Amino acid sequence: MSAEISAAAIAAGDRRALARAITLVESRRPDHRAAAERLLDALAGTGEAMRIGLSGTPGVGKSTFVEALGLRLTARGERVAVLAVDPSSARSGGSILGDKTRMERLSRDPNAFIRPSPAAAQLGGVARRTREAVRLCEAAGYGTVIVETVGVGQSETLVARMTDLFVLLLAPAGGDELQGVKRGIMEIADLVLVNKADGDLAAQAARTAADYAGALRLMRPRPDDPEGYPMVRTVSAATGAGLEAAWAAVEALAGARRASGAWDRTRAAQRAHWFDEELQAGLAELLAADPALARGLEAARRDVAAGRAAPAAAARAALAPLRRGALDASRD
Ligand code: GDP
Repeated sequence: MSAEISAAAIAAGDRRALARAITLVESRRPDHRAAAERLLDALAGTGEAMRIGLSGTPGVGKSTFVEALGLRLTARGERVAVLAVDPSSARSGGSILGDKTRMERLSRDPNAFIRPSPAAAQLGGVARRTREAVRLCEAAGYGTVIVETVGVGQSETLVARMTDLFVLLLAPAGGDELQGVKRGIMEIADLVLVNKADGDLAAQAARTAADYAGALRLMRPRPDDPEGYPMVRTVSAATGAGLEAAWAAVEALAGARRASGAWDRTRAAQRAHWFDEELQAGLAELLAADPALARGLEAARRDVAAGRAAPAAAARAALAPLRRGALDASRD
């Protein structure tokens, strides 16, 4: 792969250039990293999509839902990108989100761009590469970017920190039992959709929706959001029932947040958070790149682990060369 991809090709909406650019941000090779950063810098400030996080356990109907929703949007001439964050693929090399056969019709749609989660071997930092891929899709003119993740581990929090709106997809539950949905994910959901509200499951889906609406009323209200959010609705990705209403709810919330300024405030906080993370990653790289300092830190860590030194004092002492400018001097 040639490391240089033109920003103009991305901005012109060239899908192959976009796909190659995402491969570039996923790469750990230092020359690729440098090229990725140049590209993102050249594209800074271009395009603005509505970024939607979508989470749900395997089998709840995420791909069916995204395909049905995506095809509705592209039929109106809108452009939709779908990115997957699958923490399981990083650990096992396998993917809970499945392979490329998902969303077959949407993937053939010229107004859609679908990117499965990368294989483990290519994985850089999950957060970094996903955020950068979102930016690339935006710069390429996709008006809606859906970041899909399975409801496991910390991936929802990670996705919520890089999206404007978060949708949680649930399946109809038996009885009046709430599913084992972690409180954390309920707290970040703006829209809870109970899928499979069709046929024999319709009544159960309606009951599940009512249960969740009750549970959400007990949670902390979000003063910035209009009445009725977080909202619970039933949908059927299979029949399309409720999809228009669900999308209308997404657009209404986005509109209200834009009008109140909450949208811009969230974006600003997310950019600052991204910068802080890059700063920390950069600092860690710098520390590791200085062999003497890295050895000192390692020795200090061992002392702390063995109880021979107190963490705060040991960290301060180990970083002393940095305060004296040793890092600078070793670089000149
Ligand atoms: P994912 O693992 O969350 O991406 O789920 P899939 O989209 O692959 O769907 C899992 C299963 O549920 C498949 O057999 C789908 O056909 C089925 N399914 C998805 N959406 C619906 C729906 O709205 N109604 C019904 N009855 N089945 C659905």
